[in-house]
Amino acid sequence: MLQDDCSYDKIGRLPSIVKCAFADISEGRDAVVLTTEPAWAAVNGIAVHPKQLIYVDGNTGAYMTTLAEACEGEVVYGIGGGLAIDTAKYVASANGLPLVALPTILSTDAFLTDATGVRENGCVRYLSSKTPDTVIIDMDLLCNAPAPMRASGAADVLSIATAMWDWQEAEKMSENPPSQQITPQIIDIGTTLLQTLLDNAREIGRGTPTGLKLLLDLLCMEVQLCYLCGHSRVEEGSEHHFVYAIENHLTPAKQTSTESVHGNDGTVLHGELVGLGILLMAALQSQPSWTQYRHALECLQINYRLPGLSTDAIAETLIGLSAYVTEHQLPYTVATTLRITPDIAERTIKTVLD
Ligand SMILES: [Zn+2]
Repeated sequence: MLQDDCSYDKIGRLPSIVKCAFADISEGRDAVVLTTEPAWAAVNGIAVHPKQLIYVDGNTGAYMTTLAEACEGEVVYGIGGGLAIDTAKYVASANGLPLVALPTILSTDAFLTDATGVRENGCVRYLSSKTPDTVIIDMDLLCNAPAPMRASGAADVLSIATAMWDWQEAEKMSENPPSQQITPQIIDIGTTLLQTLLDNAREIGRGTPTGLKLLLDLLCMEVQLCYLCGHSRVEEGSEHHFVYAIENHLTPAKQTSTESVHGNDGTVLHGELVGLGILLMAALQSQPSWTQYRHALECLQINYRLPGLSTDAIAETLIGLSAYVTEHQLPYTVATTLRITPDIAERTIKTVLD
């Protein structure tokens, strides 16, 4: 029995995951539904009758607090991708209500985690919220979701390629704090997750039940691995820092989200930006095998060539990245020390996108 004053590390855990068709759900409680218009259309006819139906369109802490204060119901549903579910986690947690998550695309790992990412002052901050009590997986619905969206969360597994490099580099430079020391076993496990993704990228990209089941497994294992480590360095490094920085070029921070941001030409998914970040950072890290990550993104049907994003915006972000990570006190990565001149930026972008 643990005493109240005993200090101990608590290891987070995954939600309970139920596989069933959304058509088989029957919800009798008053529900607060946080979703997006396309996601709500995709689950058309579901037997969840919202007392409140909210289309989420912001992701600042202030926006989420407003939603949480207006919340009236007995259960919260998050239906959609990362944005809707992350917001539902915050609203349920603030009101002490049970939470059911219905992912309509596997676009991030948000439906598995206990924190909500909010954008503030041009960067991302994670607020502790809650893990969904239940996640319902409707495999048929996921397989039939639009190809460029349904598996874009695979980028949050592929990001091990650059994040783990950064973490190992930080270890070499004695830049990891005591709570973030590396063990070779964690590296082995991370390497296995990454390799499994690379070996199966085509199957996952095809959106078959086998492929998407594997992607779900990989996301679960990646999240559990982060819980065991007590931090996310195994999958969150310079590629994510690049994403947080470049989001400022896309739109006012208010409209960006964990799942998607809105460029001039429409919606940009988190996984698409992370995909681009992985390629640029892997090239800057001089990883000899970076082209296999590009091949994997193509197999996964993740569109890392973003039409709404100009080469100038990418170059500007790269050139300013070192100052950005210093300003926001982000962990040590290749972006911390590498001085990216306009020349290096231009060459790297050309290498990766040509
Ligand atoms: Zn991510």
